[in-house]
Amino acid sequence: MAQVTCTRCGQTGEQLPRPPLGGARGQVIQARTCTACWSEWLQTSANLINHYGLQVAVPADRQQLYVVMAEFLKLPEVAPTQPVDAPALADPTVEGTPPAAQ
Ligand SMILES: [Zn+2]
Repeated sequence: MAQVTCTRCGQTGEQLPRPPLGGARGQVIQARTCTACWSEWLQTSANLINHYGLQVAVPADRQQLYVVMAEFLKLPEVAPTQPVDAPALADPTVEGTPPAAQ
């Protein structure tokens, strides 16, 4: 199992076996978030969805969740249309992060 240095907890932990979301956002999460923190987010997001009555099928609600998620996981917010190899995602200060460019 691949290891990842998690931006949220700062620990090196197990990498998610696959991007948990589609597109660039899922790849950023896989590259920067350990499985433990992702599990915490899933529980937190379930609470938020229940508390605020969010509907993930509604784009505006989903976007709101993504913003909270980026804060929770200490990720850079990724625009839905942003390609995964955009320069903004390449962080040369993070060791062990492979170049995103294909
Ligand atoms: Zn973590």
